[in-house]
Parts: sequence; C-alpha cells; structure tokens
Amino acid sequence: MSPSAARSWGLNGETHTTLRPVGIGVYAGLKNTPCCLCGRDETHTRIAVPPRALRLMANGGPIAWRDVVGAVTLRFCADDWALVSDLAIEMDAHPLSRCNAAHVSLDLREDHEALLSATKDETDQTELEARLGSEAEATLDAVDDPYTEERDVVEAIVVLRALEELGVRDSPGDTVAL
Ligand SMILES: [Zn+2]
Repeated sequence: MSPSAARSWGLNGETHTTLRPVGIGVYAGLKNTPCCLCGRDETHTRIAVPPRALRLMANGGPIAWRDVVGAVTLRFCADDWALVSDLAIEMDAHPLSRCNAAHVSLDLREDHEALLSATKDETDQTELEARLGSEAEATLDAVDDPYTEERDVVEAIVVLRALEELGVRDSPGDTVAL
C-alpha cells in the first residue's frame, strides 16, 4: 500500500511502536497488535474499520469509541484471514463479534489533552464513517476490476455490514439516502 493510500485508510504511521504525538491532543495507542480472532502474534492482513465498530466486538464495551481518532485497525493471522474472507465474500457477513477489542490498534484522544483543548466535545465520528462507507461502496462498485484486491473487498464488506448493524447506514434495498 502506498503512503497516500495508507493515509486515506487512516493507517498513517501505524507501524510505529512508541507513543508519539500525532496531532493536537492525539497520541498513538496500542500498535503491532496480534490477530484479533486468535491472539497469534504473527499476522497476515489488516483492515480498517470505524471506531463505532468496537461496540460489535468482544470486550469493546468499555472502550470510549467516540474518543478514538481515525480508524481502528484489525489484524488477522493467515488462517483466520481465510475464514474472514470466506465469511465476507460468501456469506456477506463480518467477523466482529468474535474479534477481541483488546487486540486492535487505535489512537485514543487523551483525557488531559481533551481538557486543555478549546472544546471537550467528543470526536465527531460521522465524517470518518461517511468516508469509510463511501470508499467501501466504491470498492464494491469496482469488484470486477482486475486491480481490485480481495483484501479491499473484504474490508469494504466488513465496514458496510458493521455500519448497517450499528444503524449508521441503511441496509441495501432500503430507500433512504445517507
Ligand atoms: Zn488468528
């Protein structure tokens, strides 16, 4: 993935392992996380999902998803990636209920930084969700393009099905504009 493509997925700099300032009031959190399904350290593929998707994951309840800055990165080992791909492409479903939220990579806005900032409002997730959703739709629209990678298709299905389950987007077939 090129740096610009990585940025567009909200993955910029996410291989760094140390705490570092990312922007005003933003610090990098847990990095280089294990497979979110089985905990294996060796991972094969990663995808990015909106922070609200933490609500669908195991152990995701206590995480203040509104304070997450940027997308949440999930990593999968090769074996689990094969299962996730089948689940998405053949069943049109996402694996999030079996993903351990303790094993995801995210940037959490720090409380004391939030207190110092002009506004203590929660991070508005709407813009990121709309962007990830429209990117996912564009990927699925180009599913027959030879340059469309299976990883991107799986990510798109996970993002869209998760946003639908969370009530952020309507299911296909419903005639409601976002
Ligand atoms: Zn695994």
